[in-house]
Amino acid sequence: MLHTISVLVPTPAYSRLSTALSYTCDEALPPGTLVRVPLGSRDTLGLVWTPTQDNQPEAAPQALKPIQAVLRGIPPLSPDWLQLIAFAAHYYQRSAGEFAMACLPPSLRDLTPLQWERKLSRLKTSTAAEPVTVEVPTLTPEQTHVLQQLAAQTGPFLLHGNTGSGKTEVYLRRAAQLLAEDEHAQVMFLVPEINLTPQLEARVRQRFAHLGESSIVAMHSGMTPAQRLNSWLAAHFGRARLVLGTRLAVLASMPNLQLIVVDEEHDPSYKQQEGARYSARDLAVYRGQLVGAQVLLGSATPSLESWHHSRDAVQGQAAPRYTRLSMPSRVGDGVLPVLRRVDMNNQPRKTLVSAPLLAAMRERLGKQEQVLVLLNRRGYAPVLHCAECGWKSECPHCSAYRVFHKGDRTLRCHHCSLTQSVPRACPACGNQDIGVIGHGTEKVEELLAELLADMKRPDGSALCIARIDADSTRLKGELVRQLAQVHDGEVDVLVGTQMVAKGHDFRRVSLVAALNPDGALFSADFRAPERLFSLLLQAAGRAGRDAQQGASQACEMWVQTFHPAHPLFEALKRHDFAGFAAQQLQEREEAGLPPFSFQALLRAEARTQAAAQDFLNAAKAMGEERLGPDASRLSIYPAVPMSMQRVANVERAQMLVESYSRKHLQQFLSAWQDDLQQLRAQHKTVLRWAMDVDPLAI
Ligand code: ADP
Ligand code: ZN
Ligand code: ZN
Repeated sequence: MLHTISVLVPTPAYSRLSTALSYTCDEALPPGTLVRVPLGSRDTLGLVWTPTQDNQPEAAPQALKPIQAVLRGIPPLSPDWLQLIAFAAHYYQRSAGEFAMACLPPSLRDLTPLQWERKLSRLKTSTAAEPVTVEVPTLTPEQTHVLQQLAAQTGPFLLHGNTGSGKTEVYLRRAAQLLAEDEHAQVMFLVPEINLTPQLEARVRQRFAHLGESSIVAMHSGMTPAQRLNSWLAAHFGRARLVLGTRLAVLASMPNLQLIVVDEEHDPSYKQQEGARYSARDLAVYRGQLVGAQVLLGSATPSLESWHHSRDAVQGQAAPRYTRLSMPSRVGDGVLPVLRRVDMNNQPRKTLVSAPLLAAMRERLGKQEQVLVLLNRRGYAPVLHCAECGWKSECPHCSAYRVFHKGDRTLRCHHCSLTQSVPRACPACGNQDIGVIGHGTEKVEELLAELLADMKRPDGSALCIARIDADSTRLKGELVRQLAQVHDGEVDVLVGTQMVAKGHDFRRVSLVAALNPDGALFSADFRAPERLFSLLLQAAGRAGRDAQQGASQACEMWVQTFHPAHPLFEALKRHDFAGFAAQQLQEREEAGLPPFSFQALLRAEARTQAAAQDFLNAAKAMGEERLGPDASRLSIYPAVPMSMQRVANVERAQMLVESYSRKHLQQFLSAWQDDLQQLRAQHKTVLRWAMDVDPLAI
């Protein structure tokens, strides 16, 4: 008998949502089975899907093509996993086929059944683990209390713990408990970026060494296709007991998942910024509830969304979604750093490193302590400028200036990567004397080398001043190497972008300085203050983590600002995340912004700004018509140019859709898809369009 089987194939983005194609097979295949099917002139990986009402076979079985092969030897993906994919595709407005295929390791898509069988037969079976004794620290009272709550309640949980309060230890302990209770249990441990925190992987491997090496797998985009496939299979077969990964790991197949940890849950890198723009943190919460796994989000500076979801219960209001756990103290004698503000209004104009900051740095360096200097701009200077004729180093293809990089004497566009050597004279008027405006990390590095030239290390050698940013770490392995240097104490002063503020454990850093954080105080992006506060508090957390070696005196966080009395800095001084969050949430509530409303962005790209906006405004008109009497449920704002309006000669525009109800927004977006498909066919000059649900930057 011939069975009709619905199969998800990698359909192009935004083709009719959740559409599966029908094929025939002489056996009934359960949903979740991986198959190869013909598609057009090729054959492709497919996933047997649950037939739905709106997905009836479009032709009689005789007219359907047969399934070419079934990938034997691999158990079908679980119904839970299929449900996760269906939900995520629907929520983020993508086709289920595209979403499902994007979640499978790339090389799985390319293997022929024969290669596949060979692969399976070669997979090493897990080696019996050696008994190992690992030393674990005695828990602090706060850690003990938090672990008791984790054992007693279901969650989801938000663990708000200061930097250095021992959150990671809590994650490891909870994981160890669950893994010990059930020999099949699996744990997912998500981190923003594995490359930035090589110590963490080492710590996890060491702690769970008794499970055997192959029981712990990593999953991130930096791995080779073969490594990714191996990790994925280990997780799918249940052999991997612990998966340590970045956002993409949230979609791994883990049949016995019992705990999902999302470390640094506030980190923007949990949101995918292209293709299906999912939030791994939000999907982690959904998945945990779907499969009954405990979800533990952790941060010293939680996202305001999560903070709001874990607010205290108020009578008459909906119950909070998350249980909040707190660990306010640092482990051991670790003291939180003292905030020092330099009022830049009282400093000579164009000061980059103020005299009081320099003096404090010299004092620390004199005691062989390390200094961390933050500036959120790489390169030497953001603009090259001719004072004679007013020429500036604009990028011909983007609405941005090309940045002057002194090291290799280039002008580089950070958006389209156009790189040219620095002109000897002004390209417009020939003036030989062209200058720079502003400053980047390269310049800070150079300036500090001058200002600290007279200082020596105990062995008489010069101080080591290093820079870590996207430029210095472009080569593979460079970042890890440079971070190791810092850890080993070879570096005295580290200059860097926000890249260095994340999660590292710089043992001897006792002074952290933010040279020019003011930009975010008055940004048009309503999330800028949240991000700045988080960056500064996290950066401050880099200082004084080492209780044993203890710095000579309380560590310091320095901020150079023209607005020293700004409430954000007042809250930072008190290390008062809760106070800062309350103030921000009140502003957001008054302005009707997330988390009190729900947003989606429709973006379009075209050769002209008008073409991009025309498409969006036509979509707005159709959307409003569709809403009809329900217009009050939703606001569709007019199309506007994106803040980076032109990149590589492509004009970009966006349009905001907002609602106080997530449900209404979701219903509208799903229905609107049809309009957008139709419009896209009419607006042929539109190169690309994309929907971003719960966008992080507007
Ligand atoms: P967080 O993740 O909150 O920043 P960690 O878990 O990394 O904190 O802990 C900070 C430091 O304190 C680490 O070096 C860790 O090994 C150590 N630590 C954590 N818990 C304890 C404890 N109970 N006793 C002693 N040291 C601890
Ligand atoms: Zn000129
Ligand atoms: Zn450019």
